[in-house]
Amino acid sequence: MSTRHDWTTPEILALLQQPLLDLVFQAQTIHRQHHPDNNIQLATLISVKTGGCAENCAYCPQSAHYPTAVEKTAIADVDAVVTQAQRAKELGATRFCMGWAWREIREGASFEAMLEMVRGVRQLGLEACVTAGMLNQSQAQRLAEAGLTAYNHNLDTSPEYYDQIITTRTYQDRLNTLEQVRNAGVTVCCGGIIGMGETERDRARLLEVLATFDPHPESVPINALVAVTGTPLENQFPVDAFELVRLCATARILMPKARIRLSAGRTHLSREAQALCFMAGVNSIFYGEKLLTTANQSIDDDRQLLADLGLKVGVV
Ligand code: SF4
Repeated sequence: MSTRHDWTTPEILALLQQPLLDLVFQAQTIHRQHHPDNNIQLATLISVKTGGCAENCAYCPQSAHYPTAVEKTAIADVDAVVTQAQRAKELGATRFCMGWAWREIREGASFEAMLEMVRGVRQLGLEACVTAGMLNQSQAQRLAEAGLTAYNHNLDTSPEYYDQIITTRTYQDRLNTLEQVRNAGVTVCCGGIIGMGETERDRARLLEVLATFDPHPESVPINALVAVTGTPLENQFPVDAFELVRLCATARILMPKARIRLSAGRTHLSREAQALCFMAGVNSIFYGEKLLTTANQSIDDDRQLLADLGLKVGVV
């Protein structure tokens, strides 16, 4: 099947609603065609600037709008971040992702430090990814010149459900940021979150927006909500593992070449559910004890799981 950029909502809903094993089989077939080495990339995500964010994303403990246990911190210094990247590399990660809890990138010393961090991570031979909110074209260009591999900016949910989750910036703001990243020649990391009260149609619409980008995002993080006390979504039940598998499999079918990254929410998944996600076409996990501010699977558990499944890791 050739790569398409004209997917429609009914087509995507039909994929999502197939019998689960038919869906996983189809996804795995496409996955093997495009990723014959069946490699899993390990990515490590650290928080460079935590908390106090001006945005009001309803799932996020780092938003200044909500009384959560996350404390605002100063920006980590360049050496400390590069040392963490070195450590992540020694533990087997090939991608190092850095997060700033910002509405948008600001010029000045903190942006210069970000550029230094990107250069430092690239000098270690790692892919470097930054997530720091909105940016303008010249900032995207300077990040590209520093060697940035990818910029992460998630769409989170469907255009229709978006205003239930965030009101401090629009869907169009997000699309504009993604366009700046693409124009600068930096690869795009863009995905979403399920388990926030959205409908199946919202999930299909999120995937539709992603799958009608041309080119597709090179990297698609799929998150299951981690309901954090103090956020408006604190009482949401964890999403059923099979729903996550469905989303991963459908993303794989729609965007055959992308790295599908199983991201937040993995702590709620059994080893078997994670194996099913790999069958569905997931080919990256976040590796490290923390995902920004929430707990992640332990490194030892991940190593054991990957070894037990015989999955290859470590290739950039
Ligand atoms: S922009 Fe990022 S850090 Fe800020 S509230 Fe939203 S998800 Fe959290």
